[in-house]
Amino acid sequence: MIFPDEAAYRAYLQDVKTFLWREIDPLVPQIEAQGRIPFEELRPKFRQHGLFACLVPEAYGGLGLSATQYAPVLKELAKVHGGIRAMLHVHNSSVHLIETGRPEQRQQYLPRMAQGDLLVCFALTEPDSGSGLDSKATAVRQGDVYLLNGRKHLITNAREAELFAVFCFTQNPDGSERAFSVLLVERGMPGFTIEPMAPTMGCVGASHEFLRFEQVPVPRTHVLGEEGRGSEQMLAFLEISRVFIAVAALGTAERALELALEWAKRRVTFGKPIASRQAVQGYLAEMATDIYALRHMVLDALRKYDAGQRIPEESSMCKLFALEAVGRVTDKALLVHGGLGYLKSSRIEMLYRDARLNWLEEGTPTIHKLIIARTLLQEEFAAFGRGEELL
Ligand SMILES: Cc1cc2nc3c(=O)[nH]c(=O)nc-3n(C[C@H](O)[C@H](O)[C@H](O)COP(=O)(O)OP(=O)(O)OC[C@H]3O[C@@H](n4cnc5c(N)ncnc54)[C@H](O)[C@@H]3O)c2cc1C
Repeated sequence: MIFPDEAAYRAYLQDVKTFLWREIDPLVPQIEAQGRIPFEELRPKFRQHGLFACLVPEAYGGLGLSATQYAPVLKELAKVHGGIRAMLHVHNSSVHLIETGRPEQRQQYLPRMAQGDLLVCFALTEPDSGSGLDSKATAVRQGDVYLLNGRKHLITNAREAELFAVFCFTQNPDGSERAFSVLLVERGMPGFTIEPMAPTMGCVGASHEFLRFEQVPVPRTHVLGEEGRGSEQMLAFLEISRVFIAVAALGTAERALELALEWAKRRVTFGKPIASRQAVQGYLAEMATDIYALRHMVLDALRKYDAGQRIPEESSMCKLFALEAVGRVTDKALLVHGGLGYLKSSRIEMLYRDARLNWLEEGTPTIHKLIIARTLLQEEFAAFGRGEELL
């Protein structure tokens, strides 16, 4: 870790918070109104505050934060603006994907990622199939290149990104030896086009675009790591990235509670602040309870991950609980705000919409329930099911 001690890390965190609230928060109404994050204007500022470098190891010029140290940075981003959070989340989580590459690939990409000279995105989702092994994108070997064909959609950062980690099946010309792999596709490669998609409900301003690959000649050296490791690479990076989504949900939920508390104390009906009404107190108490539970779930998962443990079940549990908790918390925060909360001018209205992306990012609830249940039904997970691991 680049910070010599806890105090230096704390000072960094404070610097990030000050920057976000002083310089980004005032831009939020403009981003929401225009539906666009002014990325090129913000790039030097994000760079200055290390926001592209958080998870890049020190050896590659990054800050080398642990997952537990990165979490408060991400949480603060979610409190301020969901679109900027989504953008930086995808870039920073992609570090874990690029780290699965060969040493020369890590050397080629990670320092530029840390500097923010290379914005990265990952492309799994397709319009004509489910994610992962259901992919229809194919890359057929031909001499020193793969000819990549396929379509991806809803790909965050695609408008601005310089590097696209594309999940697809590499194969021989006769279709034999199909292997799920990741190809590193650069902006501007012939046959690669990026098309805009409709604006999103929340997390406004980040780009989520449609990618079209038509006979794109991708050099064989651009296979991330080795051919056939796509599933393993996908699971390895999603495992921690899904906990980061839960951290983002926690940030949104904490901010919603802060705003609800402020409003409940200010809004007076029948001569008393609504905060004095037992029914409103009930909402606030339920919100705080969800936040407490979520905070401790993610802390447990982050600490286990930093200690080198695999956390596939914890990761899905955090993501599943987080999306349900942030849904409940933002519902109640909206109720506490009454009619004014429904107006576009209200921050609670934005947080309510931002929270709904957490339901979709990196797997829907049904997918996480499937992962958790599958593991529960395995013998070796029985102890976790009985709670013996934690208490
Ligand atoms: C704003 C935004 C940004 C995104 N960014 C990215 C990105 O950067 N990169 C990327 O690769 N993707 C990205 N996505 C895609 C996102 O990960 C998917 O939308 C999400 O995983 C759901 O997949 P889908 O849209 O194909 O839905 P579908 O797979 O069509 O699912 C529709 C419904 O059916 C259920 N379902 C589908 N299959 C099954 C099954 N086998 N068993 C049980 N239930 C099932 C789902 O749970 C869901 O409720 C983004 C999406 C959004 C909205």
